[in-house]
Formats: sequence, structure tokens, C-alpha cells
Amino acid sequence: ETDQKIQAAMDGNTLVAMSLARAGVERMFGVVGIPVTSLANRAMALGIRFIAFHNEQSAGYAASAYGYLTGRPGILLTVSGPGCVHGLAGLSNAGANAWPMVMISGSCDQKDFGRGDFQELDQVAAVKPFSKFSAKATDITKIPNCVFEVLDWAISGRPGGCYLDIPSNVLHQTVTEQEAQKLINDAENSRNKELITKPRIKHSEIEKAVELLRNAERPLIVFGKGAAYARAESALKTLMESTGIPFLPTPMGKGLLPDNHELAATAARSLAIGKCDVALVVGARLNWLLHFGKPPKWSKDVKFILVDICEEEVELRKPCVGLVGDAKEVVERIHKEIKDDPFCLGKSHPWVEAISKKVKENVSKMEAQLGKDVVPFNFTTPLRIIRDAILGVGTPAPILVSEGANTMDVGRAVLVQMEPRTRLDAGTWGTMGVGLGYCIAAAVASPDRLVVAVEGDSGFGFSAMEVETLVRYQLPVVVIVFNNGGVYGGDRRSPEEITGPYKDDPAPTSFVPSAAYHVLIEAFGGKGYLVQTPDELKSALDESFSAKKPAVINVIIDPYAGAESGSTRVSNELGAGNPS
Ligand code: ADP
Repeated sequence: ETDQKIQAAMDGNTLVAMSLARAGVERMFGVVGIPVTSLANRAMALGIRFIAFHNEQSAGYAASAYGYLTGRPGILLTVSGPGCVHGLAGLSNAGANAWPMVMISGSCDQKDFGRGDFQELDQVAAVKPFSKFSAKATDITKIPNCVFEVLDWAISGRPGGCYLDIPSNVLHQTVTEQEAQKLINDAENSRNKELITKPRIKHSEIEKAVELLRNAERPLIVFGKGAAYARAESALKTLMESTGIPFLPTPMGKGLLPDNHELAATAARSLAIGKCDVALVVGARLNWLLHFGKPPKWSKDVKFILVDICEEEVELRKPCVGLVGDAKEVVERIHKEIKDDPFCLGKSHPWVEAISKKVKENVSKMEAQLGKDVVPFNFTTPLRIIRDAILGVGTPAPILVSEGANTMDVGRAVLVQMEPRTRLDAGTWGTMGVGLGYCIAAAVASPDRLVVAVEGDSGFGFSAMEVETLVRYQLPVVVIVFNNGGVYGGDRRSPEEITGPYKDDPAPTSFVPSAAYHVLIEAFGGKGYLVQTPDELKSALDESFSAKKPAVINVIIDPYAGAESGSTRVSNELGAGNPS
């Protein structure tokens, strides 16, 4: 007893930080305030890097992308009530994209709940639609267990967002250091190992899949960000190159194999999905981005082999063969099975030849269009210049963050991905406003890489104040804003829409024309560039890519370039296909 008395008392904030550190957490994102400020300080003192944001929404987007890039849950820390509500944006984004994340929020004192306490909210109920698993530490002794549980749930099966609620009275309770260590040890020992056990795949199912691929006339391998998350790149490369089967990445699958690979069907997307007879789909949902796997985009007779960690996903799509398991492991098993009796389509196979011919046609059409220097800028001219600058960086390749309507859609066709997990975009949910959060996550997750954001002015505006965060942490992030003065750009209303008492107000789509976004970052000591010509853009990219310091390049775009849907006209012309 005397021993316990002389030991320092540790509060709930410290115990959360200690538990996170024990679980191997290295980075956290968030916004501090009552009652979690000391939690962030304790975490930092224990060696966890805490990146402090202006807004929980951006911090949450950062945590979700960090989870994807590293394969370990990204942590978001928020205050109670409104802080938790702002954080829901990140949590829901993690769920929609199947990325592992944990939101930890302080909440009001339990004894005052229901009496109108400061920032009072039933947070566990509020997060429910967006959280895979939630835990509330109702007593300090429960903290370590809750921490391990939410972290394990976030990566178990299909990754997603989880939530940990810690009332302020619990954050202020104390235990001795000895008790703290014992609680953490016990919690660690009682971790549920089943949560992180991967499903076992039946050999007969692998055989069925191989049989289908072997007998296909026009096989295709499609892979998505689930395969990227699973780090299946070398397994996929081996399979592709030994069988000669063409492949098609989803937008964030781009880079698992280089975009310029001779089996890449990206520039012949419509042909590849429209004509393939067997498609092996790895870590990609047959959702809107893949036209639900149905006609008219896909042939009605196509046979799907679906590889996904999530059993419900496979049940939902009812593929010809469903392989529930880890992408990397399943692809390796498929390759192993083929190796005993190998087959390879070869370059002169009619299907491979047809795809490669179409790719060449579309690429040369696109290059012809890209080759022209259009001033005032359209979308393609600056994107070509940016593409070349990014390729010029070499390895490790920069991480590209892309959002906006036209900027993202045209960018998907023009910009080239050469390395896995180097593209972050609006994703499954089409979330706009993710840009700055994703940039910060990417810089923190991969300190050796440059981060380049190519985003529309509207996407940028959601979280523009986070440029201060870039400067404060001196992150190597160059944000290129495609400034066309609004959402889709300019006033696109037809004359009959411009009536009523507020007809002289700006259009709902328009912002202040030629806004000086580059000056924003200069307010904090970062570098800003205003560019309107190819030479100005080239020199700004040159300088900022070599400086590897926070910069904003404000690219003035013709407000009437581009399309409203952001994907129909321009990207189809470029042969990129329209996902929507
Ligand atoms: P994309 O947007 O690239 O098409 P989706 O997010 O739609 O990709 O699909 C990713 C899929 O990958 C999800 O259904 C998810 O369950 C699955 N997934 C996540 N992790 C793994 C893994 N380790 N192995 C296989 N599939 C995975």
C-alpha cells in the first residue's frame, strides 16, 4: 500500500496515450480542446506524432487515408459534441472506402448527461451508422481493453471506421502507474486474435477460378484499392506476366502495376470491360465505379471471379466464383495453381492484340490533344505539364491527391501512376473536400515522398485553412489549384434559370473570379505561385518540386472549359471512359 501511495497517479488521458503507444500507434490526427488536450500532449510525450488540424473534418479525412496508406488504423482525436459531429465526415469516409480508422472522442461527464452539460451528445448513438464497432470506457480500468478492441476491429475483415468514447470524468479518474501497467498487460493478453485472423480459402474454389481463367477467350484482371490495401502488387505482377492476361485498375488501383505496362488496358477500358468473358476482380466492389458488373457496359455473359475479404460483398454480387480471403494470398494461390500447368496468352493472342491496338489508338488520340498548348488554360494543357513534372521526379514517385469534378476526371486519364498507393482521390463516396487532409496524411505516412495535390478550386476551398497546417509542420506538399472560379466553373445557368428576386446574386456554382489562392499560403509563410501560361507553370513546378516545401500553385483556368458532369465530354474524348 505504501508503495502505491508513493507512485505517481495516472489519469485517463495518460492511460489512453499509454495504451495507444503499446498498441504500436505512431501518428494521430485531430483537434484538441476540453477534455482531450492533455491526451494529445501525453501521446506526444510517449513518442506519438500528433498532427493538429483546424477542423476535425480534414483531420478525419487524414486519419482515413493514413489507414489506407499504412494498413494500420488512422487515429482521429476530437473533443465532445460538435467535435465528434465534425469528425463523422472522416469516420463515414473511412467506412465507405473500407479503410481502417479509429475516432476517439472525449464526451461530457457521465453524471451530468441529460442535464444539458457542456457539449452534451449521445455520441455512441451519433456514430452508429458510420462505425463498424464502438466502445465506451465507462471507467478508467476499461480504457486499455477498449483501445485494443477498437484498433483490432478497424482492421478486421473489411477495414472500416471504429469509435471510442471516453467521458471527461473517466479521463480525469486516476490509477497508480503499477495498476496502469497491469491493466495494459491484461488487455493486451486478452486481445481477440480471431478478429485479425484471415479467412481460409478452399482449394476447390481456387481450382474453379483457374479453370475459368484457363478456358477464357477474353480474360481480364481488374483490381482496386482493396488489392492496394492488401499490398497484392507483386502477386498481381507475377500472375499477370506469367499468364499474359490484360489488366484494368480502378482509379485508386492505378499504380499497383505501372500505368504504362504493356498489359494495361486502362486506355481501352470500354473494350476491355465490354468484351471480356471472364473477369477476375480483386479487391474492388462491383459498385457504381464498375457499373455494377452489368450490361450495357459489361457483356451479359461475363463470368466474374470475385476476390474480397468480405463475405457479404461476395454474397451480394453472386459471382460465378467467390473467393473470400486476403487479395495477396488468394492471388498467390491462383498463381501457384496455374504454375503446375502454365498457360500464357502471348502478344499475338487476338484478345491481347485487340486491346493493345485500341490502347495505342486512344493514347495517340489523347497525345495529339494534349500536345496543343491552349491558353487561357483548358484542363488538358496544365495536366500534361503536371504529368511530365511528376514523372520527372522519378522514384520514390510522388503521391498524387486528386479531387474536383473536371480536374479529377480529366486528371485520371492524363496523370500517370507508376507505383502502388500513389493515388488518393474522391473515392467510393465521391467525397469532395478530402484534398488537404489526404495531403497531410500522405506526407506523414510517407516522409520520403513528395505529395502533389491537383484539385479544383471548389475542392480546395473545403479545407483551405489547412495550408497553415502544411506550413506549420513544413510538409513537402505542393497543392495545385485549378482555378476556374467555381463548382464546375463560372455561371452555367440557362437564361430561363436566371430569374426571381435574387437573380442578381452570384450563381450557386460561382466563386470570386480569379481568386488569389496563392496568397493564402503566403499569409503563413509558405510559397505561393500564380500561373497563367505553360512557362509559368513549368517554372513553378520546377521550383516547388525541388524545394519540397509547402506551396500553392494557383492555375487560372478558362471558366468555360470543362463539363458540368465533370466526366462525360472531356474524359471520354480522352478514351478514359466515364465511371458514372
Ligand atoms: P475500388 O474503389 O478501387 O473499386 P472498392 O473500395 O470498391 O475498390 O473495393 C475494395 C474492396 O476490397 C472492398 O470490398 C473490401 O472489402 C476489399 N478488401 C479490403 N481489404 C482486402 C484484402 N486484404 N483482401 C481482399 N479484399 C480486400
